[in-house]
Amino acid sequence: MDDRKVTYLKLKQNIDTFARFLEFSGIKSGERVAMIVGNSEEFVISLFAITKIGAIAVPLNTFLKKEEFEYILNDCGARMLISSASFANETKNLLNTTKIEKIVWTDKYPYLDEQNYSFTEIDANLGTHERLLKRPLLDDLACIVYTSGTTGKPKGAMLSYRNFFSNAIAGSISFQITEKDRFIVFLPMFHSFTLSIMVLLPMFTCSSIVIVRSVFPFANVLKQTLLKHVTIFLGVPTLYNALLKAKIPWYFMWFNKVRIFISGSAPLSEQSLHDFNAKFKKAKLLEGYGLSECSPAVCVNRLDHQKPLSVGLPLPSYEVKIVNEEMMEVRTGEVGEIMVKGDCVMHGYLNHANSTDETIMNGWLLTGDLGKKDEDGFIYIVDRKKDLIISKGINIYPREIEEVIYKYEGVDSVAVIGVKDETKDEDVLAFIQPKEGIELQEMELRQYLKKHLANFKLPKHIYFVEELPKNATGKVLKRILKEKVQSGGI
Ligand code: ATP
Repeated sequence: MDDRKVTYLKLKQNIDTFARFLEFSGIKSGERVAMIVGNSEEFVISLFAITKIGAIAVPLNTFLKKEEFEYILNDCGARMLISSASFANETKNLLNTTKIEKIVWTDKYPYLDEQNYSFTEIDANLGTHERLLKRPLLDDLACIVYTSGTTGKPKGAMLSYRNFFSNAIAGSISFQITEKDRFIVFLPMFHSFTLSIMVLLPMFTCSSIVIVRSVFPFANVLKQTLLKHVTIFLGVPTLYNALLKAKIPWYFMWFNKVRIFISGSAPLSEQSLHDFNAKFKKAKLLEGYGLSECSPAVCVNRLDHQKPLSVGLPLPSYEVKIVNEEMMEVRTGEVGEIMVKGDCVMHGYLNHANSTDETIMNGWLLTGDLGKKDEDGFIYIVDRKKDLIISKGINIYPREIEEVIYKYEGVDSVAVIGVKDETKDEDVLAFIQPKEGIELQEMELRQYLKKHLANFKLPKHIYFVEELPKNATGKVLKRILKEKVQSGGI
């Protein structure tokens, strides 16, 4: 954190210079340019410069490893990569193993040559960008955002300017954003939630953004929130759990200016919401729901219209319906798969025409999430369809069991999965990460569960683990737990 301040005018000049460089480097409109860039001003410059010349930005998850980068770079076919030097160990050899011909390093990199350029040395004499090769149209692609791969290999969601604009307009209305608002970005910018809600939305409303390179140390995030008078704070449930555990100084409780804390990307437990409201009496924690395929925000609770435990109402102009296996809309309160229609819906998955056809039908996107709608139209996420456990013909929603376990004293995080036994029926397994320094007793926990859950929902096995596998945004990777059990690793 270097406390530099950048005005919109200066930012535009920097974007224009870089756009000019991209143009001189032979990047054509419609071409994909990959980014493996940490949270920084350079991320914003790269994103806007790439799109300014009509090329398509592909921001990659910076936490991936070499083989994973190779997979995505080969999938999207980028020739140019913009990389932070801090990821050089994983990225420098991509010149030899993918179609990447040039790497532009956003910060100091010692080995510059005809394939390795430095962002800081891009000649300002290239001038500002006046001549556009092709001015992008509303339905041209702006970005390809790869899904986080929670349930399988990442797929590239193709998102257009219309997709992002619609999310920014809808977000600005729902959160009543003005140019006086100040956002803090500490979650990775490459993730669709951060990209759309914390980078594009504030730029759309001319608000300001405080960029923090990393969520760690968390005390720094709190310090910056306070010192920079942040008003909008976006976190994920694991982070709010950390916030609840942290010793928050009294002056933060009283003097921070945050008017909205937003939670999304994974289920916020009833217990966390309850504890948050008890601790932060004056701030609002609003839960929202979305997915990369919808640019990503779909539903959100609003300041003037919210219901605890729900993910809110669909954003203005979006439609949400709940359907059964026959694609028929179910009745109010019944559980089914969530479908979304509106300008947020992606154009499709890159190189996966079949998956696109299975996912988008007549403009309606099948989310793969199970949910229900109440009489006021509020949406409740029940679980991911892929995580549903079917045991002896009965549907068991892991989230329901997780919610009960979360309320048990000493539990930090929990993941419930179903794994097929030898009769092809599914067993319920619970993985629990206890709070630091706490040793949980299985017998006592089982007695508690018996009181709160029907017998068929009780876990067959309970495993206490030091740490649950999580992705870059703190989402538990149930896929990894299932693989471990199936391979006999647990
Ligand atoms: P992949 O598609 O590769 O498995 P992913 O689904 O994690 O990865 P993302 O687009 O990052 O990809 O995440 C979207 C998913 O996150 C949603 O489909 C939903 O399952 C989950 N999600 C988002 N917000 C919430 C929420 N408020 N409550 C519960 N789940 C949520």
